[in-house]
Amino acid sequence: MDRSTDTALGSSLPAADVAGAYDRAGALLTVDLDAIRANYRLLRAQAGGALVAGIMKADAYGLGMARIAPVLAAEGCRVFFTAHLDEAIRLRPMIPADRAIYVLHGPMPGTADDFVAHGIAPVLNDAGQAREWIAAGRRLGRRLPAAIQVDTGMSRMGMSPADLEALGAPAAWLREIAPAFLMSHLACADEAVHPMNAAQLARFEALRARFPGLPCSLANSSGVFLGSAFHYDIVRPGAALYGINPHPGSINPMRAVAALQARIVQVRDVEDGAIVGYGARFTADGPRRIATIAVGYADGWLRALTNRGHAFVDGVRVPVAGTVSMDSITLDVSAIPRERIAPGLAVELLGPHQHVDEVAAQAGTIGYEVLTRLGSRFHRVYANA
Ligand SMILES: *Cc1c(COP(=O)(O)O)cnc(C)c1O
Repeated sequence: MDRSTDTALGSSLPAADVAGAYDRAGALLTVDLDAIRANYRLLRAQAGGALVAGIMKADAYGLGMARIAPVLAAEGCRVFFTAHLDEAIRLRPMIPADRAIYVLHGPMPGTADDFVAHGIAPVLNDAGQAREWIAAGRRLGRRLPAAIQVDTGMSRMGMSPADLEALGAPAAWLREIAPAFLMSHLACADEAVHPMNAAQLARFEALRARFPGLPCSLANSSGVFLGSAFHYDIVRPGAALYGINPHPGSINPMRAVAALQARIVQVRDVEDGAIVGYGARFTADGPRRIATIAVGYADGWLRALTNRGHAFVDGVRVPVAGTVSMDSITLDVSAIPRERIAPGLAVELLGPHQHVDEVAAQAGTIGYEVLTRLGSRFHRVYANA
């Protein structure tokens, strides 16, 4: 690839650098910011009048919060979520000061001052976190903003019946903070017919009656597609923004966001019976051509794809041959004309022929895990900035 890639990235390489940044990396990860804009708009249309928040945890599902958060803010996104306080502190200067940031894990003991100093609010997940936040407010002499999460059946985070009982009447303790909204999280939203959805909705309805006047939030990406009963005032999509199918089994309405091209390091012709890779897990069943690409499990290309995954060359599917190594993968490219295959050539790992959800299915996992593991060694380009 020529040096215009660097120009597109806005980086200024010293003149002595002869190779472009992509030439020095093993793979090129392209994040399509226009696809993120389109996905945000589609979610907004789908969510009726509900406010569409943006989930930024894990560096925007591995795709780069610093570039994605400002794009969503420009689209009108007013509420952002991270998992950790550190992520929220990093996010704060990336978006306008009038946009709210909530930390899903809530205030760990002793962190209240950091929240306040950076203009970040927690989600309060149990009685202990609520007391921590109330105490901080008393100490600082003002009601501090927070969201309140109730558990409606997932038993992961959010106030249990015991927490709510311990805190007493909401009308009393809510006066001690500045409550922004009430939220809960769905365990099975990606399975539209799962009985958990209706059960959690009913439980949320019962609980929110105890918090009259508070805006409500229940739906993640898949929840947005469960119908208007699940929308309430704020929806919280993450995965769908980044192109993951919010309703597996049906046609994906979201645009793909990530494309990954890996470079060929070496090409060799092997004889019938040749062993390929660690553990001798692949044996050539005839003369084969093997191309080694510069991506491995250290880059998030899961080792579970050993002898299972695929790449694409000129749109032709080429299987992984043998074990996925830390820094490289061997592909059986026998189907590709020899003159097309050479060191430096880019092969498609994610792109028009292979979606992140398909890679995940082959690896026995979900698209979320594939995206969030995509490695830090790739050369990254943000298209349509
Ligand atoms: C991660 C998360 C979301 C976003 O979920 P997606 O399935 O990625 O849309 C929403 N709410 C909470 C509480 C989460 O932890």
